[in-house]
Amino acid sequence: MPFIEQTFSKKKHSFSASHFLVGYEKCDRLHGHTYHVKVNLQYNQLESASPIDYKIINDVIQQELALLNQKILIPSDSSDIQMISNLNNKNWNIIVKGKKYSFPKQDVQIMDGIDQTTSENISYYLHQRFSSWLQNKFPGLISSLKVEISENLGNYSSYSALI
Ligand SMILES: [Zn+2]
Repeated sequence: MPFIEQTFSKKKHSFSASHFLVGYEKCDRLHGHTYHVKVNLQYNQLESASPIDYKIINDVIQQELALLNQKILIPSDSSDIQMISNLNNKNWNIIVKGKKYSFPKQDVQIMDGIDQTTSENISYYLHQRFSSWLQNKFPGLISSLKVEISENLGNYSSYSALI
């Protein structure tokens, strides 16, 4: 069945962030990446006559990525990571496999619904965010959404699903 799709792949669709991967020998120390993100929308056939203005989607992508930019990304669902709010409530004390970090809360982005901040999981996280925005703003218009993410330019991981 034919359908219309749009791909959003702008240079500015990027963010820089720090993370660590628990249990991955090379990646378990705090380190950073500049991530690049691509988004692809597939339209429901009946509605395909009126695709969404590119600017609207580009702006939403940038707003979402800005929330992650220059943050320390911590997954909400890891059983290996213990997060304790310190006494003055301004810092997260994070304990992971015997290591202790303390970060100002405004520098931390807790990523709901994932247990590790791998690229695959970050694409899943962004997929959840974009799909709920699309369903809210343009109900029934989009059939499928794909979010691709790259830690190293040229290598992309992605998460695709019907919405
Ligand atoms: Zn990494």
